[in-house]
Amino acid sequence: MYFQASEDDFKPQKPLDFGTSSYALRPAMYDDVTQEQWADWRWQHRHRIRKLDDLKACFELTDQEVEAFVRSEDSFRVAITPHYAALMNRQDPACPLRLQAVPQEGELTTYNFELEDPLGEEAHMPVTGITHRYPDRVLFYVSHHCPVYCRHCTRKRKVSDPNTTASRAQLESGLDYIRRTTSVRDVLLSGGDPLTLSDERLGELLKELRAIKHVEVIRLGTRNPVTLPQRITPELCQLIKDFGPVYVHTHFNHPDELNADALAALQMLQRAGAVLGNQMVLLKGVNDSKEVVFTLNRKLLYAGCRPYYMLQCDMAQGITHLRTPLRKGLEIMAYLRGRIGGMGVPHFVVDLPGGGGKIELLPEYLERTYDGPDGEVLVFKNWSGERFEFVDAGEK
Ligand code: SF4
Repeated sequence: MYFQASEDDFKPQKPLDFGTSSYALRPAMYDDVTQEQWADWRWQHRHRIRKLDDLKACFELTDQEVEAFVRSEDSFRVAITPHYAALMNRQDPACPLRLQAVPQEGELTTYNFELEDPLGEEAHMPVTGITHRYPDRVLFYVSHHCPVYCRHCTRKRKVSDPNTTASRAQLESGLDYIRRTTSVRDVLLSGGDPLTLSDERLGELLKELRAIKHVEVIRLGTRNPVTLPQRITPELCQLIKDFGPVYVHTHFNHPDELNADALAALQMLQRAGAVLGNQMVLLKGVNDSKEVVFTLNRKLLYAGCRPYYMLQCDMAQGITHLRTPLRKGLEIMAYLRGRIGGMGVPHFVVDLPGGGGKIELLPEYLERTYDGPDGEVLVFKNWSGERFEFVDAGEK
């Protein structure tokens, strides 16, 4: 059912559109803001929308959104950068960017199968702030803050909570663990968002990690290119250059997020030698559409950022309303293959609950097998639905 080509697949695609800077789209409440202020990431941070009155001044909110804001305020705060707010539809509650940042009614419903820590990250913590699950890799939590608090965040249990801020002592103890654990070859700086740290603090961390002989790979997981592209400054890029290669995993979920500012940010990172990859989360109403993912991945490739993962949304508390059936992900994978080069086809993965790790899912291309005169014959269906026979090599 997944595999079917049509004449439309062979027609020229619409040219990519990165639009304008978000400054040109800013909500009326920012009318007096200068372009220089808008381009300053510290200004953006200070002027994030955090209160209901500010949200109401910016958007036409539904009664359900107001109620969800009030009732979720204590458990998972709201923060939206002026940049991200400018990209959203102010009238339409179904706007795919708005669904990611403005609390929804669905957050208030909890289910028995939902988990506070869906990936068992706390259970695999040899020291506070380090998750060590695979032999060679660690996740290093260096900040629990983010420019925008995504409603689908899998770490709602601690992200946005001021009581969980990583102290200097905690960062030191994390570095110390990595120094004495020689099996660790790969360190992912995560959070929250590591780019909420100052350049100075981030530079210290990168320098310390680079000085550890057994650390071969340094990665940075950040949504700043999406929610606060102004954070990608020449000073930050210099750090990436100095301590590179740094693999930057970002998190675009919808093509409208990749506007002119985000494109410029990705290009700056790329010129600084960062190796860019995107980790998209499949979300109902946001990107559970093959056309949306196709366009996003075209834009990402143009920007030099490889679509790396398409992640099935975790079983975290209060995000079930955003989850999609696995079948939807498989349908999107089958659509992408053949219609976009292999670099534009991400790995579709499920991160298993309790710390089981990632598994990859693929559409079923193998239809049947039979014994032929020269060995086993496998009958495959390709991306467009045509059948092909492949004689296996056997074990001789
Ligand atoms: S940027 Fe990442 S860590 Fe921060 S709220 Fe969004 S999903 Fe969670």
